[in-house]
Amino acid sequence: MSNQNSVIAFYDERMLAHEPDIEVPFLPGRMDTRIRSLLSGLGVPWKYPEHPARLTAIRHFLELEPVTGVTFEAGVAATREELARVHTLSYLDSIYQLRGKSAWLDVDTTAVSPGSVEAAEVAAGTAIAAVEAVVKGRAESSFALVRPPGHHAEPVRARGFCLFNNVAVAAAHAHLALGCERVMIVDWDAHHGNGTQDIFWADPDVLLVDIHRASPFYPGTGSLEEVGVGLGEGTNVNVPMPADAGDAAYLKAFREILVPAAEWFRPDLILVSAGFDPHSHDLALNVSYDGFAAMTGILQSLARQQCGGRLVFVLEGGYNLVSLSRGVRSVLRVLAGEAPPEPGLRGMAEVEAAAAFHRSAFVTEPEASAAPPDAGRDCQGKHRP
Ligand SMILES: [Zn+2]
Repeated sequence: MSNQNSVIAFYDERMLAHEPDIEVPFLPGRMDTRIRSLLSGLGVPWKYPEHPARLTAIRHFLELEPVTGVTFEAGVAATREELARVHTLSYLDSIYQLRGKSAWLDVDTTAVSPGSVEAAEVAAGTAIAAVEAVVKGRAESSFALVRPPGHHAEPVRARGFCLFNNVAVAAAHAHLALGCERVMIVDWDAHHGNGTQDIFWADPDVLLVDIHRASPFYPGTGSLEEVGVGLGEGTNVNVPMPADAGDAAYLKAFREILVPAAEWFRPDLILVSAGFDPHSHDLALNVSYDGFAAMTGILQSLARQQCGGRLVFVLEGGYNLVSLSRGVRSVLRVLAGEAPPEPGLRGMAEVEAAAAFHRSAFVTEPEASAAPPDAGRDCQGKHRP
C-alpha cells in the first residue's frame, strides 16, 4: 500500500510484573484502618484498577485484529541517569529500595509489588526506545504501550498509579541526548498531567498542552492560569473540560489552541501522553474512537508540517479494557496511514440510504380522506366508544 507508514509499537512483558496486592497493609496504624473502612463502605470488592490485563488486552486485540504496517518490538529498562533527568536522586533511591517488596506509596492508590520497580524502569525505558526509533529514523511514528503509567509522577513523589514519569523521561532524553531542541507534549488523558507540568514548569524548551476534565476531578490541578514561570512562562497550556465533553470540544481545543501553540513553538518532536479514559466507557468524558483517530490525524499533520512527522505516543490511563484496546487500535490505524474519520458523521451515509429506502412508505396522499385510517382507535388499537 502506497499510503502505508512505518509504525513501531513497543510492548514488553516485564511490565506485567507490576501487580499490587491490595491485601497488603499499606499504611501504618490508624490510616490503614481508616482507608480500609472507607474502601469497605464502597459496597463492592475494591481491586487495584491499574492492572496487567490493561496491557495484555491491548496486545490480544491487536493480535486478533492486526493493523497493517505496525510491527512490535520489546522495550528496555531506563537507567538511573536517564530517570534522574526528571526525578531527584533521593526519590529514585527511595523507589529502588522497594525492589522485591510490596508497599503502598500514596493514599491516592499508588502501590508496588515485588516486580514493580523493574516494570516501572522498563516503562520509562520503553518510552525512550519509542523516541529513539522515531528520532533515528527507523519509523515515522511509534507507540510505547507501557504501564505503570507516568504523567502523575512528580520529581519527588509517586502518585495516581505512577512511579516514574515516562513521557517526561522520554522528552528529557530527546532534548538532552538526541539533540531535539524543542519538544512538545500533548496530554489528552482524562486526568491532568500534574507531574509532567511540575517537571517542565519553568522549562522553555518543553511545551505541554494538557486537555483534561477540570478540577475537582483528580488530581485537582490544571487550571487555565497555570501557564508556567520564568523562561517557561507560556509553555504550559491547560484546557480544562467539563464532565462529558466529547469529540467536538476536544477537536475545537486541538484546532484553536493546540495547533496555533505548536506553530508558535516549532517543536522538533511531538510526544503524546495518550490516555484512553476520555472514552465514555470510563465515565468521565465522552470521546469516541473516531475522536481519538481524528485527534491523531491532526497531530500527524502537525508533526509532518513541523518536525518531519516525528510523533511518539506513550500510554497513560484507560481502565475499561474494551475502550482501552479499541482506542489504541484507532490511533495505530491512523499512524499506519488510514484516513481519519470525521467524528459525528459515522452512520450518516447509512441513515441517508435507509431514508431513501423508506421514503415511499409513509407518504400521505393529499386526496385521502380527512380522517386518518385508524380514526376511532386509541393507542392500543382498541376501538374507542
Ligand atoms: Zn487518566
